[in-house]
Amino acid sequence: MPLSGEPLALELVNTTYIDGGRRGHRVDALTTTDQLTAWVAAHANQLSRELPPALAEQACTPRTHEQFLSLREALRSCLQSVTDDSVPSSDSFKAINEFSRYSASRLEISPGNPVVVTRHWEVDDPWLIALGEVASDACSLLMPDRIGSVRACPAPGCILFFVKSHPRREWCSPVCGNRARVARHARTGSRSTRKSGGNA
Ligand SMILES: [Zn+2]
Repeated sequence: MPLSGEPLALELVNTTYIDGGRRGHRVDALTTTDQLTAWVAAHANQLSRELPPALAEQACTPRTHEQFLSLREALRSCLQSVTDDSVPSSDSFKAINEFSRYSASRLEISPGNPVVVTRHWEVDDPWLIALGEVASDACSLLMPDRIGSVRACPAPGCILFFVKSHPRREWCSPVCGNRARVARHARTGSRSTRKSGGNA
């Protein structure tokens, strides 16, 4: 993956990316249930700590895979609108909210020394819960105090999203920063070449 270390929701959106810049091709890193299983395992530390062992015990189904892809599509559409300063479609809201519901849980205590505290979810399927946690992460990312730092990378040919983690961060990665500088240099270069050609 060209970028990592972003909040869970952005990590999911960033599983489609362009390989090779402006003339590159679009890559989808989640085309199979195995790829999704590996992605979830790689993000275990961003999920509730009870989930990874349960996820390891149960196979990801094609249905779950489809739901993750629907969520990813809704997130991309919603984030694209938000970072463009336009209003996201109601379909994207609907999908995100529908999946976010699966993250609902409550804590319960039972006797012990110390007392045992257990988290219970409203659904049993750990894959649905994980899906819910990604959707819920997106909702918290869209809250007023955080949304201002979510960025669509402005480098040519890049479709990744990131959180502006420090004031000078303009690109998703140094690779994109270099690519943007090269493109700018080429534009200025071709303008001056055209100008000098015209004068000759
Ligand atoms: Zn980028």
